[in-house]
Amino acid sequence: MQEEKRKYYNSGGNIAASVNNNSNCNNINDSVNSNDIKNSCNNLNNNESSDNSNLNIKYGKITLIGTGPGDIKHLTRTAVEAIEECSVIIGYSTYLKQISNLLREEQKKLHFNMKDEITRCEAAISKSMEGENVAVVSGGDAGIYGMSGLLLELLDKKSLIGKIPLDFIPGVPAFCAAACSIGAPIMNDFCVISLSNLLTPWEDIEKRLDFASKGDFVIIIYNPKSAKRKDELTNAKEILLKNIDKNRPSAIVKAASRPDEEIVITTLEHIDEFDLISMNTTIIIGNSTTFVKDFYMITKRGYGNKYNL
Ligand code: SAH
Repeated sequence: MQEEKRKYYNSGGNIAASVNNNSNCNNINDSVNSNDIKNSCNNLNNNESSDNSNLNIKYGKITLIGTGPGDIKHLTRTAVEAIEECSVIIGYSTYLKQISNLLREEQKKLHFNMKDEITRCEAAISKSMEGENVAVVSGGDAGIYGMSGLLLELLDKKSLIGKIPLDFIPGVPAFCAAACSIGAPIMNDFCVISLSNLLTPWEDIEKRLDFASKGDFVIIIYNPKSAKRKDELTNAKEILLKNIDKNRPSAIVKAASRPDEEIVITTLEHIDEFDLISMNTTIIIGNSTTFVKDFYMITKRGYGNKYNL
Protein backbone atom coordinates (compact mmCIF):
# COMPACT_ATOMS: atom_id res chain seq x y z
CA MET A 1 0.00 0.00 0.00
CA GLN A 2 1.05 3.59 -0.62
CA GLU A 3 4.16 2.48 -2.49
CA GLU A 4 3.53 4.82 -5.41
CA LYS A 5 6.02 7.52 -6.24
CA ARG A 6 4.88 10.99 -5.40
CA LYS A 7 6.43 14.20 -6.60
CA TYR A 8 7.07 17.10 -4.28
CA TYR A 9 8.07 20.53 -5.46
CA ASN A 10 9.28 22.98 -2.89
CA SER A 11 9.20 26.44 -4.36
CA GLY A 12 9.92 28.12 -1.02
CA GLY A 13 13.60 28.60 -1.74
CA ASN A 14 15.88 27.71 -4.57
CA ILE A 15 15.14 24.01 -4.15
CA ALA A 16 12.82 22.30 -6.61
CA ALA A 17 12.94 18.72 -5.48
CA SER A 18 11.17 15.68 -6.84
CA VAL A 19 11.47 12.75 -4.51
CA ASN A 20 10.09 9.32 -3.94
CA ASN A 21 7.99 9.69 -0.80
CA ASN A 22 9.31 6.47 0.62
CA SER A 23 12.90 6.56 -0.49
CA ASN A 24 14.06 8.98 2.17
CA CYS A 25 12.34 7.05 4.92
CA ASN A 26 12.03 3.32 4.45
CA ASN A 27 15.14 1.26 4.83
CA ILE A 28 16.85 4.24 6.31
CA ASN A 29 19.85 3.28 8.35
CA ASP A 30 19.77 6.21 10.69
CA SER A 31 20.96 5.37 14.13
CA VAL A 32 20.35 6.32 17.72
CA ASN A 33 21.38 4.95 21.06
CA SER A 34 18.80 4.13 23.70
CA ASN A 35 19.42 7.35 25.63
CA ASP A 36 18.82 9.33 22.49
CA ILE A 37 15.55 7.49 22.01
CA LYS A 38 14.45 8.36 25.53
CA ASN A 39 15.53 11.97 25.15
CA SER A 40 13.87 12.45 21.81
CA CYS A 41 10.66 10.90 23.06
CA ASN A 42 10.49 12.53 26.45
CA ASN A 43 11.39 16.12 25.82
CA LEU A 44 8.76 17.96 23.83
CA ASN A 45 10.74 21.17 23.88
CA ASN A 46 13.91 19.61 22.65
CA ASN A 47 14.77 21.41 19.45
CA GLU A 48 17.93 19.47 18.79
CA SER A 49 17.96 16.31 16.78
CA SER A 50 19.47 13.32 18.48
CA ASP A 51 23.00 12.48 17.56
CA ASN A 52 22.06 9.36 15.71
CA SER A 53 25.15 8.55 13.83
CA ASN A 54 26.26 5.37 15.57
CA LEU A 55 23.63 2.69 15.84
CA ASN A 56 21.49 1.22 13.12
CA ILE A 57 17.79 1.75 13.50
CA LYS A 58 14.99 1.02 11.10
CA TYR A 59 12.09 3.26 11.92
CA GLY A 60 8.63 1.81 11.62
CA LYS A 61 6.06 3.80 9.68
CA ILE A 62 3.54 5.99 11.52
CA THR A 63 0.18 6.14 9.76
CA LEU A 64 -2.36 8.77 10.79
CA ILE A 65 -5.79 7.33 10.17
CA GLY A 66 -9.10 9.16 10.22
CA THR A 67 -11.73 6.79 11.55
CA GLY A 68 -14.73 8.86 10.45
CA PRO A 69 -17.70 10.06 12.50
CA GLY A 70 -18.36 6.85 14.39
CA ASP A 71 -19.99 4.15 12.32
CA ILE A 72 -17.30 1.70 11.25
CA LYS A 73 -18.96 1.51 7.82
CA HIS A 74 -17.70 5.02 7.16
CA LEU A 75 -14.07 3.96 7.42
CA THR A 76 -12.48 4.08 3.98
CA ARG A 77 -11.10 0.86 2.54
CA THR A 78 -7.62 2.43 2.66
CA ALA A 79 -8.09 3.14 6.36
CA VAL A 80 -9.13 -0.47 7.03
CA GLU A 81 -6.11 -1.79 5.12
CA ALA A 82 -3.77 0.59 6.92
CA ILE A 83 -5.09 -0.50 10.32
CA GLU A 84 -4.63 -4.16 9.33
CA GLU A 85 -1.00 -3.54 8.37
CA CYS A 86 0.07 -1.95 11.66
CA SER A 87 1.45 -3.85 14.64
CA VAL A 88 0.65 -1.07 17.13
CA ILE A 89 -2.62 0.87 17.26
CA ILE A 90 -2.67 4.09 19.28
CA GLY A 91 -5.70 6.21 20.01
CA TYR A 92 -8.25 7.73 22.32
CA SER A 93 -10.13 4.84 23.97
CA THR A 94 -13.46 5.78 22.35
CA TYR A 95 -12.00 5.56 18.84
CA LEU A 96 -10.22 2.28 19.60
CA LYS A 97 -13.52 0.85 20.82
CA GLN A 98 -15.24 1.99 17.64
CA ILE A 99 -12.79 0.00 15.50
CA SER A 100 -12.35 -2.93 17.90
CA ASN A 101 -13.96 -5.40 15.45
CA LEU A 102 -11.16 -4.72 12.99
CA LEU A 103 -8.33 -5.36 15.41
CA ARG A 104 -6.46 -8.66 15.76
CA GLU A 105 -5.34 -10.06 19.07
CA GLU A 106 -1.65 -9.81 18.27
CA GLN A 107 -1.84 -6.10 17.49
CA LYS A 108 -0.76 -3.96 20.45
CA LYS A 109 -3.44 -1.50 21.43
CA LEU A 110 -2.40 1.58 23.36
CA HIS A 111 -5.48 3.31 24.77
CA PHE A 112 -5.23 6.93 25.88
CA ASN A 113 -7.51 9.42 27.57
CA MET A 114 -8.75 12.68 26.15
CA LYS A 115 -6.14 15.47 26.50
CA ASP A 116 -3.32 12.88 26.37
CA GLU A 117 -2.57 13.83 22.78
CA ILE A 118 1.09 14.70 23.33
CA THR A 119 1.72 11.42 25.16
CA ARG A 120 0.00 9.57 22.31
CA CYS A 121 2.38 11.12 19.80
CA GLU A 122 5.38 10.41 22.02
CA ALA A 123 4.30 6.78 22.23
CA ALA A 124 3.91 6.59 18.45
CA ILE A 125 7.40 8.00 17.92
CA SER A 126 8.86 5.68 20.51
CA LYS A 127 7.21 2.60 18.94
CA SER A 128 8.34 3.67 15.48
CA MET A 129 11.89 3.82 16.82
CA GLU A 130 11.47 0.22 17.96
CA GLY A 131 10.71 -0.67 14.34
CA GLU A 132 6.96 -1.13 14.79
CA ASN A 133 4.49 0.08 12.19
CA VAL A 134 2.17 2.32 14.14
CA ALA A 135 -1.38 3.44 13.44
CA VAL A 136 -2.52 6.59 15.21
CA VAL A 137 -6.29 6.68 14.89
CA SER A 138 -8.23 9.91 15.19
CA GLY A 139 -11.99 10.53 14.82
CA GLY A 140 -13.32 12.07 11.62
CA ASP A 141 -10.29 13.16 9.63
CA ALA A 142 -7.00 13.14 11.53
CA GLY A 143 -5.99 16.44 9.97
CA ILE A 144 -9.10 18.35 11.13
CA TYR A 145 -8.63 19.27 14.82
CA GLY A 146 -7.02 15.81 15.04
CA MET A 147 -3.68 14.18 15.67
CA SER A 148 -1.85 14.80 12.36
CA GLY A 149 -0.68 18.36 13.00
CA LEU A 150 0.49 17.71 16.54
CA LEU A 151 2.50 14.69 15.45
CA LEU A 152 4.15 16.67 12.65
CA GLU A 153 4.90 19.55 15.04
CA LEU A 154 6.55 17.16 17.48
CA LEU A 155 8.51 15.37 14.75
CA ASP A 156 9.67 18.76 13.50
CA LYS A 157 10.87 19.76 17.00
CA LYS A 158 12.81 16.53 17.19
CA SER A 159 14.20 16.89 13.65
CA LEU A 160 12.59 13.58 12.73
CA ILE A 161 10.64 14.69 9.68
CA GLY A 162 12.12 12.86 6.72
CA LYS A 163 13.47 10.12 8.97
CA ILE A 164 10.31 8.45 10.22
CA PRO A 165 8.15 7.24 7.32
CA LEU A 166 4.68 8.75 7.53
CA ASP A 167 1.35 8.23 5.87
CA PHE A 168 -1.93 10.13 6.23
CA ILE A 169 -5.21 8.38 5.46
CA PRO A 170 -8.26 10.63 5.07
CA GLY A 171 -11.39 10.07 7.11
CA VAL A 172 -14.97 11.30 6.72
CA PRO A 173 -15.20 14.49 8.82
CA ALA A 174 -18.09 14.72 11.29
CA PHE A 175 -19.49 17.79 9.55
CA CYS A 176 -19.91 15.79 6.32
CA ALA A 177 -21.77 13.05 8.18
CA ALA A 178 -23.90 15.66 9.97
CA ALA A 179 -24.68 17.40 6.67
CA CYS A 180 -25.67 14.11 5.01
CA SER A 181 -28.16 13.49 7.82
CA ILE A 182 -30.13 16.59 6.78
CA GLY A 183 -29.73 16.66 3.01
CA ALA A 184 -27.50 19.32 1.49
CA PRO A 185 -26.84 22.23 3.87
CA ILE A 186 -23.21 22.81 2.76
CA MET A 187 -23.64 23.40 -0.96
CA ASN A 188 -21.61 26.56 -1.05
CA ASP A 189 -18.70 28.22 0.74
CA PHE A 190 -18.51 27.32 4.40
CA CYS A 191 -16.48 27.83 7.57
CA VAL A 192 -15.91 25.39 10.41
CA ILE A 193 -15.37 27.09 13.75
CA SER A 194 -14.60 25.24 16.96
CA LEU A 195 -15.89 26.90 20.13
CA SER A 196 -13.27 25.20 22.27
CA ASN A 197 -10.97 27.78 23.81
CA LEU A 198 -8.64 25.20 25.35
CA LEU A 199 -6.06 25.75 22.61
CA THR A 200 -7.43 28.84 20.82
CA PRO A 201 -8.01 32.14 22.68
CA TRP A 202 -11.71 33.06 22.88
CA GLU A 203 -11.00 36.48 21.31
CA ASP A 204 -9.81 34.70 18.14
CA ILE A 205 -12.93 32.56 18.09
CA GLU A 206 -15.11 35.67 18.43
CA LYS A 207 -13.24 37.31 15.56
CA ARG A 208 -13.76 34.27 13.32
CA LEU A 209 -17.47 34.09 14.15
CA ASP A 210 -17.83 37.78 13.32
CA PHE A 211 -16.02 37.53 9.97
CA ALA A 212 -17.82 34.31 9.00
CA SER A 213 -21.19 35.92 9.72
CA LYS A 214 -20.27 38.94 7.60
CA GLY A 215 -19.18 36.72 4.69
CA ASP A 216 -22.50 34.85 4.27
CA PHE A 217 -20.80 31.50 4.77
CA VAL A 218 -22.60 28.38 5.88
CA ILE A 219 -21.20 28.19 9.41
CA ILE A 220 -20.44 24.87 11.05
CA ILE A 221 -19.83 24.85 14.77
CA TYR A 222 -17.72 22.16 16.38
CA ASN A 223 -17.22 21.62 20.11
CA PRO A 224 -20.30 23.69 20.96
CA LYS A 225 -20.49 22.76 24.64
CA SER A 226 -18.74 20.62 27.24
CA ALA A 227 -19.18 19.95 30.93
CA LYS A 228 -16.93 22.93 31.69
CA ARG A 229 -17.81 25.20 28.77
CA LYS A 230 -21.50 25.97 29.03
CA ASP A 231 -21.82 29.59 27.85
CA GLU A 232 -19.78 29.68 24.66
CA LEU A 233 -22.62 28.67 22.37
CA THR A 234 -24.89 31.45 23.64
CA ASN A 235 -22.02 33.94 23.33
CA ALA A 236 -21.34 32.71 19.79
CA LYS A 237 -25.02 33.03 18.89
CA GLU A 238 -25.09 36.64 20.08
CA ILE A 239 -22.12 37.47 17.83
CA LEU A 240 -23.73 35.76 14.82
CA LEU A 241 -27.05 37.52 15.41
CA LYS A 242 -25.36 40.89 14.78
CA ASN A 243 -25.05 39.98 11.10
CA ILE A 244 -27.44 37.08 10.51
CA ASP A 245 -31.23 37.05 10.65
CA LYS A 246 -32.61 35.31 13.75
CA ASN A 247 -34.78 33.06 11.55
CA ARG A 248 -31.83 31.63 9.61
CA PRO A 249 -32.31 27.83 9.26
CA SER A 250 -29.95 25.95 11.54
CA ALA A 251 -29.50 22.28 12.40
CA ILE A 252 -28.16 20.50 15.43
CA VAL A 253 -26.86 17.01 14.76
CA LYS A 254 -25.77 14.87 17.66
CA ALA A 255 -23.78 11.64 17.15
CA ALA A 256 -24.02 11.69 13.34
CA SER A 257 -23.83 8.17 11.86
CA ARG A 258 -24.02 6.55 15.31
CA PRO A 259 -26.95 4.57 16.73
CA ASP A 260 -27.83 7.42 19.10
CA GLU A 261 -27.96 10.06 16.35
CA GLU A 262 -30.42 12.90 17.04
CA ILE A 263 -31.32 15.85 14.86
CA VAL A 264 -33.07 19.14 15.54
CA ILE A 265 -33.84 21.60 12.76
CA THR A 266 -34.40 25.06 14.16
CA THR A 267 -33.44 28.70 13.62
CA LEU A 268 -30.38 30.65 14.71
CA GLU A 269 -32.11 32.35 17.64
CA HIS A 270 -32.82 28.95 19.26
CA ILE A 271 -29.57 27.03 18.63
CA ASP A 272 -28.50 27.12 22.28
CA GLU A 273 -31.77 25.84 23.75
CA PHE A 274 -31.51 22.07 23.30
CA ASP A 275 -30.37 19.43 25.77
CA LEU A 276 -28.82 17.23 23.09
CA ILE A 277 -25.98 19.71 22.61
CA SER A 278 -22.72 18.21 23.86
CA MET A 279 -19.21 17.50 22.67
CA ASN A 280 -20.67 15.01 20.17
CA THR A 281 -22.76 17.62 18.43
CA THR A 282 -22.25 19.62 15.27
CA ILE A 283 -24.32 22.71 14.52
CA ILE A 284 -24.86 23.88 10.96
CA ILE A 285 -26.13 27.42 10.35
CA GLY A 286 -27.27 28.04 6.81
CA ASN A 287 -26.34 30.97 4.57
CA SER A 288 -28.80 33.51 3.15
CA THR A 289 -30.05 31.00 0.51
CA THR A 290 -30.66 28.08 2.86
CA PHE A 291 -34.20 26.77 3.24
CA VAL A 292 -35.90 23.86 5.00
CA LYS A 293 -38.31 21.36 3.44
CA ASP A 294 -39.56 18.48 5.57
CA PHE A 295 -36.46 16.90 7.14
CA TYR A 296 -34.07 18.54 4.72
CA MET A 297 -31.96 21.65 4.98
CA ILE A 298 -30.95 22.83 1.52
CA THR A 299 -28.43 25.51 0.60
CA LYS A 300 -28.69 26.75 -2.95
CA ARG A 301 -25.67 26.29 -5.16
CA GLY A 302 -26.81 28.96 -7.62
CA TYR A 303 -28.33 26.80 -10.37
CA GLY A 304 -31.67 28.53 -9.84
CA ASN A 305 -30.29 31.96 -10.80
CA LYS A 306 -28.27 30.68 -13.72
CA TYR A 307 -30.76 28.28 -15.29
CA ASN A 308 -34.11 29.67 -14.16
CA LEU A 309 -35.11 26.46 -12.32
N1 SAH B 1 -11.45 15.31 13.43
C1 SAH B 1 -12.88 15.51 13.58
C2 SAH B 1 -13.21 16.67 14.47
C3 SAH B 1 -12.71 16.56 15.87
S1 SAH B 1 -13.24 17.93 16.85
C4 SAH B 1 -13.49 15.66 12.19
O1 SAH B 1 -12.81 15.47 11.18
O2 SAH B 1 -14.68 15.93 12.10
C5 SAH B 1 -14.55 17.16 17.76
C6 SAH B 1 -15.88 17.76 17.37
O3 SAH B 1 -16.36 17.16 16.18
C7 SAH B 1 -16.97 17.47 18.40
O4 SAH B 1 -16.94 18.38 19.47
C8 SAH B 1 -18.23 17.63 17.56
O5 SAH B 1 -18.53 19.00 17.40
C9 SAH B 1 -17.76 17.08 16.22
N2 SAH B 1 -18.14 15.65 16.08
C10 SAH B 1 -17.32 14.57 16.11
N3 SAH B 1 -18.01 13.44 15.87
C11 SAH B 1 -19.29 13.82 15.68
C12 SAH B 1 -20.48 13.10 15.38
N4 SAH B 1 -20.48 11.77 15.19
N5 SAH B 1 -21.63 13.81 15.23
C13 SAH B 1 -21.66 15.15 15.37
N6 SAH B 1 -20.57 15.88 15.64
C14 SAH B 1 -19.39 15.22 15.81
